Amino acid sequence: MEIKKVMVIGAGQMGGGIAQVSAQTGWETVQYDINMDLVNKGIAVIDKNLSRNVSKGKMTEDEKAAILGRIKPSISLEDAADCDLVIEAIVENFAVKEKVFKELDRIAPPHAILASNTSSLPITQIAAVTNRPDKVIGMHFMNPVPVMKLVEVIRGLATTDEVYQIVEEASIKMGKVPVWCKDVPGFVSNRVLQVMINEALWELYEGVAPAENIDNIMKLGMNHPMGPCELADLIGLDTILSILNVMYDGYGDPKYRPSPLLKQYVNAGWLGRKTGKGIFDYK
Ligand code: NAD
Repeated sequence: MEIKKVMVIGAGQMGGGIAQVSAQTGWETVQYDINMDLVNKGIAVIDKNLSRNVSKGKMTEDEKAAILGRIKPSISLEDAADCDLVIEAIVENFAVKEKVFKELDRIAPPHAILASNTSSLPITQIAAVTNRPDKVIGMHFMNPVPVMKLVEVIRGLATTDEVYQIVEEASIKMGKVPVWCKDVPGFVSNRVLQVMINEALWELYEGVAPAENIDNIMKLGMNHPMGPCELADLIGLDTILSILNVMYDGYGDPKYRPSPLLKQYVNAGWLGRKTGKGIFDYK
């Protein structure tokens, strides 16, 4: 199957980045969110990213206009009706994703592949709410999507080899490097990463060191480009809490129990960069 038209569900940090890369690949791209304000906000970020590329001489004004011209704003899931690939990037919450996948399964053509950018939720469980579990797969992009090379590709129990191959080829066309893994809570990436971030949040909770020191120790000592606190704010503390809860429930292992400070920040609405405040202040 040749992919010609892609729909991206969610215009937040990840959805916007995926829509940008999809349009850059040359695919007609539908950018959906629950209201036009959110869709426009997402497209404005894409516009800004592309303008930065133009000013750096990486792309011409005409190329930028052509990419933006391939992105169609949408607030109706019915727009999935003529798409070959749908990539979902909405909140990390199974109940919310379940509703959307049921709708997408009803609307999208029978050949369409339904992918989720979930960070941790079981692909097999998402697939099971549709009538096409063989065509449901995890396409886990990294943040920021236009910059990061990896797509972690997660195969659900029923995902076919053919669907996996189409998604592998699509990821390569998008300029990414697909690497597969099995469907376990947190997959490979977040099972490793979130334990480190959570440990940093436990240290912060216990007053072992201020956030700047924790980050500097990991940057200068381990050669990490970003410290765990800065990275947590970039990912979004709400997303991190959801991922840790999925792994805590999924493995029943206390090593995944979220730091109380993380819960408190999320309850306060301090979600990181996206809200202007998280562990650090961005205002
Ligand atoms: P975000 O909060 O920036 O954006 C989520 C978007 O989903 C919002 O625009 C919201 O309006 C929209 N949304 C909420 N409910 C919706 C619904 N019912 N229908 C359609 N849209 C809805 O979140 P994000 O960081 O972009 O994360 C999105 C997904 O990507 C999550 O599953 C997350 O786990 C995953 N992910 C995040 C990162 C990261 O670093 N933030 C990395 C990889 C994967």
